[in-house]
Amino acid sequence: MAQSIEQLKAAIRGQLIQPADPAYEAARRVYNGMIDKRPRVIVRAVDAGDIMAAVQYGRENELLVAIRGGGHNGAGLGTCDDGLVIDLSLMKGVRVDPAARTVRVGGGCVWGDVDHATHAFGMAAPCGFISTTGVAGLTLGGGIGYLTRRYGLTIDNLLSVDMVLADGSFVTADSKENSDLFWAVRGGGGNFGVVTSFKYRLHPVNTVQFGPTFWPLEQAAEVLKAYREFILTAPEDVNGFFAFLVIPPAPMFPENLHMKMVCAIVWCCTGTAEDTEKATRPMRAVGTPLLDAVGPAPFTAAQSAFDGLFVPGLQWYWRADYFTELSDAAIGKHIEHGSKLPTMLSTMHLYPVNGAAQRVDKNDTAYSFREATFAEVIVGIDPDPANAGKITDWCRSYYDALHPYSAGGAYVNFMMDEGPERVQASFRDNYGRLAAIKKKYDPANFFRVNQNIKPAA
Ligand SMILES: Cc1cc2nc3c(=O)[nH]c(=O)nc-3n(C[C@H](O)[C@H](O)[C@H](O)COP(=O)(O)OP(=O)(O)OC[C@H]3O[C@@H](n4cnc5c(N)ncnc54)[C@H](O)[C@@H]3O)c2cc1C
Repeated sequence: MAQSIEQLKAAIRGQLIQPADPAYEAARRVYNGMIDKRPRVIVRAVDAGDIMAAVQYGRENELLVAIRGGGHNGAGLGTCDDGLVIDLSLMKGVRVDPAARTVRVGGGCVWGDVDHATHAFGMAAPCGFISTTGVAGLTLGGGIGYLTRRYGLTIDNLLSVDMVLADGSFVTADSKENSDLFWAVRGGGGNFGVVTSFKYRLHPVNTVQFGPTFWPLEQAAEVLKAYREFILTAPEDVNGFFAFLVIPPAPMFPENLHMKMVCAIVWCCTGTAEDTEKATRPMRAVGTPLLDAVGPAPFTAAQSAFDGLFVPGLQWYWRADYFTELSDAAIGKHIEHGSKLPTMLSTMHLYPVNGAAQRVDKNDTAYSFREATFAEVIVGIDPDPANAGKITDWCRSYYDALHPYSAGGAYVNFMMDEGPERVQASFRDNYGRLAAIKKKYDPANFFRVNQNIKPAA
């Protein structure tokens, strides 16, 4: 007989939240305010034992199961309707081993938790561009951030994972043990089980050279043409992503620039101030910047600079692609759509994914697009649900205009629910191997609230 909810409650040490509980409304919410799902039960696990019990309960009761790390996923893949959510947000332990230069991280951490702990030792693990994103979801999709050009994707610095599989068993996967699983989780998302902890390699990252250069929109073609060349040969200590954005009315920006739509490069460089100045000067000297404000900052400050702008609960609509090159025609389309940002928070970012990330072969991890130079993300964002249609339409038409120039697939962590063909296009020739590994570890596709890889036939 299938386990009852009372038996599950007795089996776990964490929280079990159901629709009638006062905590339910807050507990069911995820970061993207556009997602409005009502799970039947939420288990806030405190350890692997809780997760094993929840997986067993979900299996015996044939429930749809979603795994939640930081709850940031754009498509809302950290929750589901009428199913079981296994929420790891209470599993926040971080242990730095300064001698070995590694960090062991609980599956419910967000990057701010990790940065805080590692910064005390003058080190960092390659993460993203914002500190509130979940470690789990970001890592399992690949992990693109300020340190990508210098130290590779997050998965290139992943040393091992502890996991609970669909059959409820607990395993460790690394380059020696369950190495097929370790290959698959480095890009293949939450398809293979619940990761209870991650171990990463750390790097000496402490003070970085951080800040934006803003240019008037009229100079966007000149800036983009210079940027596509500059980023190919810039030293790997240099990271700067290109953006169309509206300068927020924040005290750190001059008032005359508030609410101005501009193009920008947001820099975060790991070299000294002098080296950064020398290396970035050719780009920062292009055109006539409105503001050029790059200076020393603790890495934790760079990582959390956007946190106050992008607060939880906003409406988000996402589209993405990889690009190996930016043709003049593609730049023309960028300018056409990027200069029509529909709301203050909406934006388009071109993240450089070259440098160290390209030194890993496309078949060495599940993440496939190693030859891409840029990961593009277009996001319509606004607090007001009444603007959901407006931001969605802008995002889709921008994407439709650029997609023909793309490399064909996208970073899975920047996708909404775009269907199986798009997932396959993003894994390319790694998809068959992923499907075989899925069949071995999750033959019934128990974990399917994700960018789903179907078990091989
Ligand atoms: C504001 C913002 C900024 C972002 N910035 C970046 C960035 O700089 N770089 C980047 O690479 N990405 C970035 N992303 C995208 C981000 O990587 C994805 O949204 C990712 O899914 C978030 O992970 P999460 O744990 O917060 O998500 P959740 O919504 O909790 O989970 C998403 C999916 O991940 C899987 N998952 C989560 N936890 C686990 C677990 N413990 N075990 C197994 N599977 C799990 C599940 O499939 C789940 O459905 C950003 C997203 C937002 C909203």
